[in-house]
Amino acid sequence: MTYGSKQVNSLPPYLFSIFHQKKKKLQEQGIDVIDLGIGAPDLPTPSFIINRLTVEASKPDNHKYSPYGGCQEFKLAVASFYKKHYNVSLNPETEVLALIGSKEGIAHLISAALDPGDGVLVPDPGYPVYQSAIHLAYGAGIPFPLDEKNGYVPQLESISESELQRSKLLLLNYPSNPTGATVGLDTFTKAADFAKKHKLGLVHDAAYDLVTFDDYKAPSILQVPGAKEIAVEFGSLSKSFNMTGWRIGYVVGNKELIRSLSIVKSNTDTSQFLPIQKAGAAALNSDFSSVKSNNAIYSKRIDNMLAALKEIGMKADKPRGTFFIWAKVPGGYSSQNFAEKLLDEAGVIVTPGTAFGLKGEGYIRISLTVPIDRLREAAARMKKMMGGGSP
Ligand SMILES: *Cc1c(COP(=O)(O)O)cnc(C)c1O
Repeated sequence: MTYGSKQVNSLPPYLFSIFHQKKKKLQEQGIDVIDLGIGAPDLPTPSFIINRLTVEASKPDNHKYSPYGGCQEFKLAVASFYKKHYNVSLNPETEVLALIGSKEGIAHLISAALDPGDGVLVPDPGYPVYQSAIHLAYGAGIPFPLDEKNGYVPQLESISESELQRSKLLLLNYPSNPTGATVGLDTFTKAADFAKKHKLGLVHDAAYDLVTFDDYKAPSILQVPGAKEIAVEFGSLSKSFNMTGWRIGYVVGNKELIRSLSIVKSNTDTSQFLPIQKAGAAALNSDFSSVKSNNAIYSKRIDNMLAALKEIGMKADKPRGTFFIWAKVPGGYSSQNFAEKLLDEAGVIVTPGTAFGLKGEGYIRISLTVPIDRLREAAARMKKMMGGGSP
């Protein structure tokens, strides 16, 4: 590792790759492993999106570089989605930017906004990529706790003055990975006031904006009046349209943050392949019936798993969004212990809550991204392991 930089060499190992290695080893021994650790849809990309890609891929004009910030059609589709879905108006030229997945955009925004040593307030538990991107940008990740007893709503008043002095950005994520928690617009309004008062850029990761159940509709942070003065929101087609491998997302909102990000990006990646952007536009311009049927599938899987957890005495609530169950581990176990026991004794992979921060201790994240028969099998094995009867 002599060629790696200090920042790269001091990154903690990506937890998911550790479980992946263990999974491979068990599979080589002939053990049937059920992986409920993967945070990505198992369902295929809807065919109308694939069809658009195929048509566009055969046009020579689409083989050239994309405009830096993304093509007009994609940016217009994002703006029109925000108008239709949230009643938020966006200028597609200055307030919308195409991304090669939102992960890329979040990481590059962090490096575009930070000077060495600057702080970023990040949710704990939260998506681990935030901390890694901050570290790689020579910044300091400052976790703020999210507690079950407060419904995982940030208690911003508890952030210390010195932490605030140091910080440049405040990151939020609802519906939340890993907790599945959702908030109302009032929480975003408070966060926007707080960010204004303390001169923070407010960054909302809305990767699960459309993955919601029953009549619940997740708000956009840009629905807060005046939010564009301080806030950007990241969106992704990965989770809502089963397009993780396509690498297409966007960021909307504050012009200055978007401009800084676009400077980093135009010197790094020259945007996404045009046919993928156009297929992404088709997704955003669609009637969302594919999203609805996906959500119905996740909802059913979640109900199924929750019923099984209840039988073995594990406590978890039904989330209003995401495809995750955030469950308390049984008494006497740590997150890591319990996740290891599940893998060793039941052949079921879940993610220990501590993969998402210190406050994740005492929980596991169960990802509902496998077909229902596999979930039933996983539930039966868990019941057997916990002595809750035979499968
Ligand atoms: C999956 C995920 C992302 C990344 O999505 P891409 O658009 O595929 O890069 C970002 N944030 C959260 C919280 C996620 O779970």
